Amino acid sequence: MIYLVEHFYSIQGEGKYLGTPSLFFRFGGCNMKCEGFGCTETSALGVQVVGCDTVYAVDKKHFGSTWQEIDSLDELVKIYHSYTLPIKADIVLTGGEPLIYADSELFVSFIEFLQGKGHRVTFETNGAINVDFEKHRVYQRCVFALSVKLSNSGEPFSKRINPEAIQNIAACAQDAFFKFTVDKDSLISGINEEIKEIIKFAPSISVYCMPKGGSKAELEYHSEAVIEYCKRKGYVYSDRLHIRLWDQNKGV
Ligand code: SF4
Repeated sequence: MIYLVEHFYSIQGEGKYLGTPSLFFRFGGCNMKCEGFGCTETSALGVQVVGCDTVYAVDKKHFGSTWQEIDSLDELVKIYHSYTLPIKADIVLTGGEPLIYADSELFVSFIEFLQGKGHRVTFETNGAINVDFEKHRVYQRCVFALSVKLSNSGEPFSKRINPEAIQNIAACAQDAFFKFTVDKDSLISGINEEIKEIIKFAPSISVYCMPKGGSKAELEYHSEAVIEYCKRKGYVYSDRLHIRLWDQNKGV
């Protein structure tokens, strides 16, 4: 069983493929909570839940009643066909953490179907889950945005850093890049050392840094410091276009 939180056709708002027309499938559930990001969302029952900017796709207890249960490939294919997409549109599989379903037969068949239609499939992942590239060859033709979590997520090191998973994805996928969420305060408190420590697991792939922010105001607050940081280190600055334009992360 797979949980689907939302799907929408928009443009990629972050990372290497920023601006690319993309059909997003946001899957429910995650192997982390990232309460350190401090975004809040109110559940249908009025409970204020703290987490990342997609906490509504992470916290099953409070938001799971709105998630769609997917039991068959047909259901996902039907959703795909409800859009009229150019071949050049990417399909972005995000969450939550989409790779919690990496071994699901249904999930793998869906990727196969999408690739068969000629789309590039890209994952937005925290990079902490091992993917079996030999068993499921479809992953070799995917792109992975490795949004490896830093200490500002509030998660312990052992949970957020999986060197083997990072190395594996960097070595076996068609394309992969790091994408870090950085904020002004963490730059002062030594986040640079953390990033250095992580990128050494896959030194050949590009590093993108984007400002922390679940709202436009927060994004604006952090962006200049992140730009200056990228200039110093030679990393690529990535904006969060969807938040900059629409001030939100849902359905845009
Ligand atoms: S890993 Fe990503 S989706 Fe999961 S809680 Fe952290 S920021 Fe949110």
